[in-house]
Amino acid sequence: MPTESFDVVVVGGGTAGTFAAATVADAGLDVVLLERKPESEAGHIACGDAIKGKSTFPDVIDRDYLKEEAFTNENIQYARFENPQTEEVLEIPFDEAGAVVDRRRYGEVLLEEVDRLGVDMRYDTVVQDVRQDGEQVIGVTATKNSTTTEYDASVVIDAAGAMSILQDQADFSETTFDTKVNYQQFCSAYREIIEVEEPVEYEDSIVFMPTEELGYLWYFPRTETTINAGLGFQMNKPPMQLVDVLKEDLSNRSEFENATVIDKLGAALPTRRPYDSAVAPGYAAVGDAAAHVNPATGGGIPGAAKAGHWAAEAAIEAIEDGDVSESALWEYNQRVMTDFGKRFAAIDLYNIWAGTYSVEELTSIVTALPGQALIDALGTGAAGMSLGLKLETLGRTFGHWRTLYSLYQVHQEAQSLKEVYEDYPDSPADFDRWQSRRDEIYDRVYDITGADPKY
Ligand SMILES: Cc1cc2nc3c(=O)[nH]c(=O)nc-3n(C[C@H](O)[C@H](O)[C@H](O)COP(=O)(O)OP(=O)(O)OC[C@H]3O[C@@H](n4cnc5c(N)ncnc54)[C@H](O)[C@@H]3O)c2cc1C
Repeated sequence: MPTESFDVVVVGGGTAGTFAAATVADAGLDVVLLERKPESEAGHIACGDAIKGKSTFPDVIDRDYLKEEAFTNENIQYARFENPQTEEVLEIPFDEAGAVVDRRRYGEVLLEEVDRLGVDMRYDTVVQDVRQDGEQVIGVTATKNSTTTEYDASVVIDAAGAMSILQDQADFSETTFDTKVNYQQFCSAYREIIEVEEPVEYEDSIVFMPTEELGYLWYFPRTETTINAGLGFQMNKPPMQLVDVLKEDLSNRSEFENATVIDKLGAALPTRRPYDSAVAPGYAAVGDAAAHVNPATGGGIPGAAKAGHWAAEAAIEAIEDGDVSESALWEYNQRVMTDFGKRFAAIDLYNIWAGTYSVEELTSIVTALPGQALIDALGTGAAGMSLGLKLETLGRTFGHWRTLYSLYQVHQEAQSLKEVYEDYPDSPADFDRWQSRRDEIYDRVYDITGADPKY
């Protein structure tokens, strides 16, 4: 079997893999990026195309070029929530404008950048297996045009997305790598790109509507007349006919009359807390492959970019020091957990709470709250409300107090959880103790909500 050797093998040419590979090449190490799709299809990925926090992208790629080429709507000022029961609309302003991108062009530019930085790109190359010497990962095997090649690497970066086959193949039982992963912690999602005849009135907003099974429908305007419309459901709930539900909703919205669908794609995404540890000896998982996704919104692009960059930085240092053990890569875990990881884990608790109610119950609570009160509560907390508004809120929410009290309790636990993640250990030695502290909070949340354990 042919064999090739690199400092780093990156599997997957999405956001996480391209940022990882670009970072390694920029540091002058040998890196190959293996992507199963042909070059013409790479970068074409199912997504809502909305990006919040774009200014936090690592600057290892040419961000100005990316923006010029792919950021088709940079004027997203609001998240707009539509309540189908009451037809009420709630608009929550963003601190920093968000963007909706031409996702295909965005993916292509990232791959162009990787190529420019000197990454060895291999398309049509499907990784089939992970090679290990004991617990140490030493490379992968991949097939292209029925030729199987062994790729040796000091570090393998798994950026193969939500359904990464690498984690099924590798034996991580003697490592800290998180293997408590199952499909019920995922969301199944589908989206269409639709051209409409007239400019939509919400070209400065991303629009959400609740659906059955703890999901939401979204309408994200790439431009005034090109809309990314999609929906998803949490896979611990009964399956939803995504295509039919979307079709039904589109047919009820006047702006989609005579519209043309130009693209359709679906995929799974991990709406769970980030992996407790995303490293093993000689191995790091990044992006969707390590659940670096906001579990409420499904937003995973900024997390994937940062994680790819940080894992690569840890790998570079480890290779230069001649030690690619779990401890040597550990700093990557700590950076994720003390940054977006703690926020995503806290949001996971609200998901667990929400999963114990039906969509009707949740929307009736939201309906019971005066719109301004909800914005104030989300922004400044109840302290920002006037006395009159507080009394009005008390009156209108009568009948939901038990639910609101449990939400308040979960909120308190979420604050404690963030502190625990802030204290993520700086070596694997304290990992078990840290997990026990964290699990106590989850146990209390299961008690408060009556939810079945998610992990
Ligand atoms: C319908 C939908 C809507 C979404 N909407 C948004 C949104 O609006 N905003 C947002 O921020 N995020 C959104 N997300 C999430 C976001 O798309 C992901 O979090 C992000 O793309 C993760 O990037 P990644 O690089 O980790 O994985 P991916 O982008 O999935 O890339 C993985 C790559 O690995 C390749 N690969 C897989 N297996 C192999 C193999 N065995 N060998 C070789 N290559 C392989 C794949 O072909 C792919 O190119 C959405 C996701 C979905 C499914």
